[in-house]
Amino acid sequence: MPLATLRVTTASRTSVHPIGQQIQNALEGKGVGNGLLLVSVPHTTCAVTLNEPEAGLLDDFAQALERLVPWEGRYAHNQGAEDNAAAHVRANLIGHQAMVPVIDGRLQVGVWQDVLLMECDGPRTRTVEVRLLAEA
Ligand code: ZN
Repeated sequence: MPLATLRVTTASRTSVHPIGQQIQNALEGKGVGNGLLLVSVPHTTCAVTLNEPEAGLLDDFAQALERLVPWEGRYAHNQGAEDNAAAHVRANLIGHQAMVPVIDGRLQVGVWQDVLLMECDGPRTRTVEVRLLAEA
């Protein structure tokens, strides 16, 4: 059972969403001290990572994914109604979870870092699960 379950609604097919503050807010009142958080998404076409949430950079991520794994191409998965092979591949290049240390109930990220949800096949409402793996 996750410590917290968040919902993130995405507005376009490819987009990046800073979620560190939402995770921090979800820890309030949960009695979290020091430990390690696992932030994961139970989806096959979105991803979680850490980086800088600067608006231009968020667009750069989306554009880079478009160049690396274009929508058009020969994909075995794209048969019948399925057309999202590129979204599956993009999500796996980034990964489906991130680990974040917590001290005194506060996420320990760098000055320029945030936790980012990367939507690869939106718009959708995504679930983000937050688990406390270890208390130190
Ligand atoms: Zn699919």
